[in-house]
Amino acid sequence: MEEKEVFSFDMGDPTEVISMTDEEVKEVLKTIPQETLDAYGIGLDSKGDDTPEEAEEEGKAYAIKLLSPTRMVREGYTCTDHADYYWWDHQKWSGRDGKKPGFIIPHHMAGNLTVEQFYAIMKSTRQMSPTVSIHTDGTVYAWVPEEMRPWTTGSYTADQDALTMEIANDEIGGDWHISDTAYNLAVAIAAEWCKRYGIDPYWKPGAMGTIQEHKQWASTACPGPYMSRKIESGQFEADIRAILNPPAPTPKPTPTTVKFRVQSGAFKSEENCDAWINTIHQKGFKAIKKKDGNLWKVQCGIFESKDNAQKLVDQLKAKGITAAILEVK
Ligand SMILES: [Zn+2]
Repeated sequence: MEEKEVFSFDMGDPTEVISMTDEEVKEVLKTIPQETLDAYGIGLDSKGDDTPEEAEEEGKAYAIKLLSPTRMVREGYTCTDHADYYWWDHQKWSGRDGKKPGFIIPHHMAGNLTVEQFYAIMKSTRQMSPTVSIHTDGTVYAWVPEEMRPWTTGSYTADQDALTMEIANDEIGGDWHISDTAYNLAVAIAAEWCKRYGIDPYWKPGAMGTIQEHKQWASTACPGPYMSRKIESGQFEADIRAILNPPAPTPKPTPTTVKFRVQSGAFKSEENCDAWINTIHQKGFKAIKKKDGNLWKVQCGIFESKDNAQKLVDQLKAKGITAAILEVK
C-alpha cells in the first residue's frame, strides 16, 4: 500500500508506531480467551440479541478495552487505495467475530459535509463510523480498518461483515443527489473491495444481495432516492462490473477503401478475350485480362474516384467499346 497522507491530530510520533501485518493482528486477537470476549458482550452480539444501541455500546467497550493494546498497529490495517486520509484513533469500531467482509452498504451523508466536518463528528461522542466517507469534491477518508466492523447501518448483523461508505450529497433534500465525482469514487472503491474480498456485486430486495441499502435494515430514507435508484436499477452493479471486467477493446476496423474498376467484357475463351483486348488497344486504350473463375475478364483501369472511372467508361463508349464500373473492396 502506498503511503497515506494523515491528519496531524492525535497521530503521535510515527516512529512510535508498532508495525504489524494483518496476520499478526489476527494472531494477537486469537490469544484473547473466549470468556474475555464474552465479558465484553461479544458473545451476546454474535447471537444478534442486541439493539443497535447496545451493540454500539458493546462495540465501543470492545474497542477501548480489547483493542487498546493493538491501537498502534494501524499501519498494519487495510484501507482503500483511494483514501486521501485515514484516521483510526477514534476506535469507533469493533471486531467482526471471525466474519470476513462480504457485503457493501453505501449510505448517504444526508448532507454535504467536508472532511473536516466529518472529522469533527467522529471526534465527538457520536457512536457512528463508516469504513470510508466520500466527499463531493472527491476527497476520500478511511475511518475504519477493513478488518473491523464499522458502526454505520444500525444493525450488528448488517455491519458485521459489511464495508460501508458515507457519500456526501450535493443536493440537500429532494433527490439527495450525489456528485458524479463522489459516485464514481463509490464505484471505484466498491470495485476495489469486490476484488480484495472476492465479492460478487449485486443488489436484491430484502437485503439478499451483496450490495445492500440502509433502508433494507432500518426505517430510514438512506441512501436517498438518487443513490437508491442507482443501486436498485442495477446501474451501481454494472458500473462496478465495468471496472472488474473491462470490456475488451473493440478492434479498430481497418478502413475499407472502395475502388472502381472499369471492366469491358468477360469471356469463356481466352482466345476471344485476347482478340477483344487487341481491339481495345488498337483504339488507344489500355486493357489487361484477369482470370476469374471460369471467365476471362477484360479490365481497362481501376480508380479511387468513381468520377474518373465514369470518365473512362464514357471515352470507351465514344469509341464503341461497352464498359461497366464495378466496385472493388
Ligand atoms: Zn445510512
